Amino acid sequence: MADPAAQTTIKVVCRFRPLNKSEVARGDKYIPTFQGDDCVQIAGKPYHFDRVFQSNTTQVQFYNAVAQQIVRDVLGGYNGTIFAYGQTSSGKTHTMEVSYFEIYLDKIKDCLDVSKINLSVHEDKNRVPYVKGCTERFVSTPEEVMDAIDEGKNNRHVAVTNMNEHSSRSHSIFLINIKQENSQTGQKFTGKLYLVDLAGSEKVRFHPALVLHPPPSTLCLCGFPVSASSYVPYRDSKMTRILQDSLGGNCRTTMVICCSPSAFNDAETRSTLMFGQRAK
Ligand code: ADP
Ligand code: MG
Repeated sequence: MADPAAQTTIKVVCRFRPLNKSEVARGDKYIPTFQGDDCVQIAGKPYHFDRVFQSNTTQVQFYNAVAQQIVRDVLGGYNGTIFAYGQTSSGKTHTMEVSYFEIYLDKIKDCLDVSKINLSVHEDKNRVPYVKGCTERFVSTPEEVMDAIDEGKNNRHVAVTNMNEHSSRSHSIFLINIKQENSQTGQKFTGKLYLVDLAGSEKVRFHPALVLHPPPSTLCLCGFPVSASSYVPYRDSKMTRILQDSLGGNCRTTMVICCSPSAFNDAETRSTLMFGQRAK
């Protein structure tokens, strides 16, 4: 019997944002129709996911349905990763609420210390990858987590002239390292939660989808800005290396496919949905 705890659970969920003001003003058609809680149709073609969230889903509803269990598992000693994938302005950042280090043209920048602009990936003695020299902040309350997030966000804004253009081309990763000790038994738990806000899917072409090999599961991420001349081979990409131990054995991975509901984005939305289905 396989140990169920050792199995990698990869979930793919899909979330549609509402039409925004300018889409409404332009009279854009709202194109998705929803069936049950796991299927969305575009022009009669169905796309299936573990869950589909309609445009009126609140942040709390989404958190309770998707993130809460992962956070619990991380507290129980698993590693967890939540990815947001979708075109620019489809709701990725909104869904993650966080934006720290970021990867742009395969360079890692520390968002909590702007002087660190090209960090490298190393492995510790257990062969667990980590970003060498990246600022670690000790936090013990939710407010301290939010403070760190705000600081990282401000640093990103200060560092670039056009934040929208920049965030559509860079991946941002927020890592929460959790260490706990049971005061009675002295037993120690560690868990990592990665929140990955990927570059806009229209700007970054991924290696034939995200490649999932059934157990032991590896998920290889390959991203390169379409306009850049430097191609990053996926095995070597910093994103793949950093997430290595959160995508293998003892982990909980969820991919959130973010979509615009507007007819204006029809083509990109369909390709985003296809990508999400293939990741399953
Ligand atoms: P992305 O990170 O994919 O480029 P954003 O998360 O920045 O997109 O979302 C673009 C805009 O749409 C933002 O102003 C955001 O507040 C709004 N938005 C995104 N998703 C939702 C949602 N589910 N409900 C309401 N507003 C949303
Ligand atoms: Mg964003």
